Amino acid sequence: MSFKDLQLNKPLLRAIAEAGYDNPTLVQERTIPFVLNKKDVIVSAQTGTGKTAAFALPILQSLFDYQDAPKKGKKIKALIVSPSRELAVQILDNFKTYGIYTNLRTAVVFGGTSIEPQKDILNKGIDILIATPGRLLDLHKQDLVNLDHVETLVLDEADLMLDMGFIDDVKKIERLCTKEKQILLFSATIPYKVEQLANTILKNPERIEV
Ligand code: AMP
Repeated sequence: MSFKDLQLNKPLLRAIAEAGYDNPTLVQERTIPFVLNKKDVIVSAQTGTGKTAAFALPILQSLFDYQDAPKKGKKIKALIVSPSRELAVQILDNFKTYGIYTNLRTAVVFGGTSIEPQKDILNKGIDILIATPGRLLDLHKQDLVNLDHVETLVLDEADLMLDMGFIDDVKKIERLCTKEKQILLFSATIPYKVEQLANTILKNPERIEV
């Protein structure tokens, strides 16, 4: 299978080719069609399998139509929650690489650093936000981030996130987004507590194991 077979548009195909990717990995091949069809998914895949592109590419593809919206009117339409700053920054790099030929705006916010610059970035209007749970909730409490328009919520490394004690934060974040959103849950392993979380917040998810 090729990336073209996955119905990705030209700006994405060009960026993927320039990144040196020849063909989709297994997790991408299996996940991307469901995400494009707005299904919830629960994906068990380790880091290194190409799982980031498995959610980043279809999110960029789905939001591509919005790209000409005036900057001021931009609302966060995709939210990626990540357990650590390092991972969040890696995810941002991936979105920047794949989205280079779109005008979609992506930003990252994480704790342990000043909130001011993050506030300015959010004020400029963002399409896709990558965040660690604590800082995201802080920003929301201060009314600096609006999640009312999130259409796709990604919980990346869900097992790690729960191990780190973020369960209540994750549930809170889920409730702050619109009810009708799509949820994509990625986890290296699916222990009972991840399964339980999925049962609580996902709607009829497709299960993908690689
Ligand atoms: P991830 O599992 O998302 O951390 O990705 C692991 C590495 O694989 C990253 O360095 C990606 O840039 C790379 N990668 C992702 N998808 C592909 C692909 N289809 N072909 C080649 N490399 C890829």
